[in-house]
Amino acid sequence: MTSPLVIAIDGPSGSGKSSTSRGVADRLGLDYLDTGAMYRAMTWALLRQGVDLADPEAVATASDGVTLTSGTDPLDPTIHVDGTDVAEPIRTDEVTGSVSLVAAVPHVRELLVDLQRRVIAGSDGIVVEGRDIGSVVAPDARVKIYLVADPAARAARRAAENGGADAAATEAALAARDRIDSTRAASPLVQSEGSVVVDGTHLTLDEVIDTIVGIVDRAT
Ligand code: C5P
Repeated sequence: MTSPLVIAIDGPSGSGKSSTSRGVADRLGLDYLDTGAMYRAMTWALLRQGVDLADPEAVATASDGVTLTSGTDPLDPTIHVDGTDVAEPIRTDEVTGSVSLVAAVPHVRELLVDLQRRVIAGSDGIVVEGRDIGSVVAPDARVKIYLVADPAARAARRAAENGGADAAATEAALAARDRIDSTRAASPLVQSEGSVVVDGTHLTLDEVIDTIVGIVDRAT
């Protein structure tokens, strides 16, 4: 018997990972896990408690008391903190601007990686998106994708999603987050061994999904 299919999709902020990962999961009838939403939910919970996010020890201690629950339907992914639906508040600028600080704390990563592995182990097949899925969370994933897109194109897409926000400011914010995510000591964003790079700069969402489904078909 072969082990359940795990597809790891990593890449920098705004590369289109979420829409792509959900689309691939939906197309292939698989579950979907958004690990970025888990780091965001932890950040939301700590902000609400008034924890000083610049203090890694305080972050580590407070993170032990937070219970996160992720729903894995690609058409309706959900995220709860201690039973509260936080799908909307985890997308605010306040959370987006602080999440990389929280995600750099090794104890938070241990907690969330453990949770992510339990979700994966309980699934019959899953697409998992994040920054360290192919390198740390699921290094044995059958398919590993590293999704990239040109930073200016990424920023323009993000700005359009945010109702026409300033693309230059959006590009600077994405670059700042990627810099922290790529240079942190604990499992930084890297292109993991054995991953296939997919560049979505000049592709539509459907074309990116087609490309990845083709890679999955050839690998399985
Ligand atoms: O994917 P998203 O942009 O929602 O992720 C938010 C943040 O969560 C990232 O900027 C990164 O700091 C953190 N993250 C991480 N490891 C993951 C997923 C997200 O460190 N596997």
